[in-house]
Amino acid sequence: MAKAKVSNELSVEERLRALYNLQKIDSEITKIKILRGELPLEVQDLEDEIAGLQTRIEKLETELKDNETAISNKNNEIEDARVLIKKYEEQQDNVRNNREFDALTKEVEFQNLEIELCEKKIREFKFKLDEVNKTLEKAKQFIEDRTKDLDLKHNELESITKETQKEEDELTKQSKRISESVEERLLNAYTRIRGNARNGLAVVPVERNACGGCFNKIPPQRQLDIRMRNKISVCEYCGRILVDKDIEMPLEELEKKLELERIAAEEAKAKRPKRKTTRVKKAK
Ligand SMILES: [Zn+2]
Repeated sequence: MAKAKVSNELSVEERLRALYNLQKIDSEITKIKILRGELPLEVQDLEDEIAGLQTRIEKLETELKDNETAISNKNNEIEDARVLIKKYEEQQDNVRNNREFDALTKEVEFQNLEIELCEKKIREFKFKLDEVNKTLEKAKQFIEDRTKDLDLKHNELESITKETQKEEDELTKQSKRISESVEERLLNAYTRIRGNARNGLAVVPVERNACGGCFNKIPPQRQLDIRMRNKISVCEYCGRILVDKDIEMPLEELEKKLELERIAAEEAKAKRPKRKTTRVKKAK
């Protein structure tokens, strides 16, 4: 409610001027953002990519450890098998009959097979370990490169931000202050038009008898209405809010200025009426 009250106290002319000033400030803010360009997005993308790589590296390192554990387990199994083989061979020296000897031989054969199987598994794990190591190296190199890129972009962004932050903060403050003086309905319209317009312009002056946003001609009567500042006019082609190009000047002052200009023009005309016509004739 407070907002509406403030706005109700403003005349149409004052509202138009507020919108015009708001547009000027918001355009300045946009310029600063354009200067920063895609950098904030690029920094964000790189940060995301690096985070993804870190997760991947962690997974690979776990995989690496798992493989190492598996190899060491198989080595232990081989060790156990060798101990058993040694034990069986010693027992063979003390057998009472051939049947006992053959049974032990079978046990030894079985343990030898176990060892072979373990060795095969170890070869497989080692192969995998190699692969994981290679991938890990690549990922680490990748993350190093990306971190360098990020540092560069980060510094670039920081220096641009440092240069413009104060200005942007000040402009944002001004924009907010003016916004608060404009009635909500009008402000919403402004924001909506600005969002739809490619150049971010919602309030444009009439220039050379045309809309300053879409450059379509505006009929003289409408131009007069706009100049009188009695109501809020929008361009019938692009929907932008139209203001007099001298909106910053109060109407009375502007009228005085135009009157003076008219008198000066008439005086100048009165001083050299013939020369002008002859010159035109000569030119032809
Ligand atoms: Zn227009």
